[in-house]
This record gives sequence, structure tokens and C-alpha cells, in this order.
Amino acid sequence: MSFSATQVESYSDTAVHIVPGPILLLGAPGVGKGTQAKELVKIWSIPQISTGDLLRSHVAQGTELGKAAGALMQQGELVPDSLVNEMVARRLQEPDTARGYILDGFPRTLPQAHWLDARLAAQPDALPVVAVSLHVDYNQLIRRITGRRNCPVCQRIYNIYLNPPRTAGFCDVEGAALAQRADDREEVFAERMRAYNAQTAPVVEHYRTQGRFAEVDGDGAIAAVAARIVTAVERLRS
Ligand code: AMP
Repeated sequence: MSFSATQVESYSDTAVHIVPGPILLLGAPGVGKGTQAKELVKIWSIPQISTGDLLRSHVAQGTELGKAAGALMQQGELVPDSLVNEMVARRLQEPDTARGYILDGFPRTLPQAHWLDARLAAQPDALPVVAVSLHVDYNQLIRRITGRRNCPVCQRIYNIYLNPPRTAGFCDVEGAALAQRADDREEVFAERMRAYNAQTAPVVEHYRTQGRFAEVDGDGAIAAVAARIVTAVERLRS
């Protein structure tokens, strides 16, 4: 079965009951992984595990991990695998992950992918991962990244070009002043793309060869892209 953009909004009320299991959202910075993960959370009632969000929260709280990660993140470089894997391991022990979870921004290197594969292989009851790789063209990525603004209170994501708030600079819901991530500036974006091409593109190939992999066009309305992802995951789980 496949879903149109309007159907996906009432998806959780419909009669489709796949157990989503672990879902990886892969793709370049700015492709829409975070936005789509939030749609899938609504649809399947499973958590989004964004390693970028978790790391930003460590930086904000000034933990040891946050201190180790902050400078690297500011420069658009990756945080060492051992630190990120450990953080993910802890998050995956939470009971809300039992029916599945959406990993957003992880794995980002081949050692992270091998670590995750080994971890899941050691759990005989765990469903295998399905990997969805999102794509949009490079010019779109730049607009999405440099135009992105977040509400610091509710974490809603806006884009000053593509999805602006009703009042420029302020969250529609909270009224809070919107913020731009330091690493969303164009010069840092270039470094993030370099890290993506060198270290994360091989992860996409790794999951492509494992099967249970789909490439999804990330261009278009949020609900339309979500519908494509749902259709792909359903097919991979059937
Ligand atoms: P994101 O919010 O996913 O774009 O991540 C922001 C930054 O956090 C990245 O540019 C990296 O510095 C760091 N980061 C997030 N996830 C990972 C990961 N899986 N491995 C290494 N560094 C990561």
C-alpha cells in the first residue's frame, strides 16, 4: 500500500500496523532528516534519536562530552566515533525504543555503522535496520541550511526562504526569537559537506549493498516527502 500526502496526515489512524523497528535516515546536511524524523515520530509514535540534538544538548549543559564535542561541531567536523557510539548506546537503552526508533544523523561513519550492525546482531529479537537515504540537489541544500532557523523553546524548524514564520524572526507558536545554528553559516556548511562526502557517503553505500535500503526524493512538501518515506519503509518491512 502507498500513501498520498493527505493520507499521511491521518496515517496513524489507519489500519496499517507495521512495527517500524530501527529506521536510519541518511543524507547530506540540510536534506531534511530532522524535519522528516519529526513527521515519522507523529506517524509511528517512536522516538527520533538525533545525535546532533543530543550533542547540542550536552554542549548546552557543559558536560564532559559537550566540552569535547563543542569545538569540533562549530567547525563542521565530526565528533569521535567512540563518544558518539557511547551516547547512542545509552539512548537505545531507554524503554521508548522498544517498537523502533528513527536515527537521524547516525551512523555518519563506517565504524559507527559497523558498531550499530554488531549491536543489533547481538540482539536476536531486534528487527534489522531499514535505511532511507534522502536526496535534494546541492543548491537546495544551501538554501535549506543557510535559511534554517529554530525556535529555542519548542524546537520547531523554519526556513526564511521556504517555510517562513508568520512574523519574521519569531516562532508562530511560542513567539520566541528564532535562532540560527552556528554551524549553519555558509562557510561551515562547506566543511560539513566535505565531512559528509568523505565519511558519510560510504555509509550510504554500506546500507545500499545490505538491502533494506531506499533512496527517496527529498524535494517537495513536507507531508509529500513523509508519504514517500512511509511507503518505502513499509515496503522494506514487508
Ligand atoms: P546535525 O545536527 O546532525 O547536522 O549534527 C551537527 C554536528 O554534530 C555535526 O556537524 C557533527 O559535528 C556532530 N555530529 C552529529 N552526529 C554525529 C555523528 N553521528 N558522528 C559524529 N559527529 C556527529
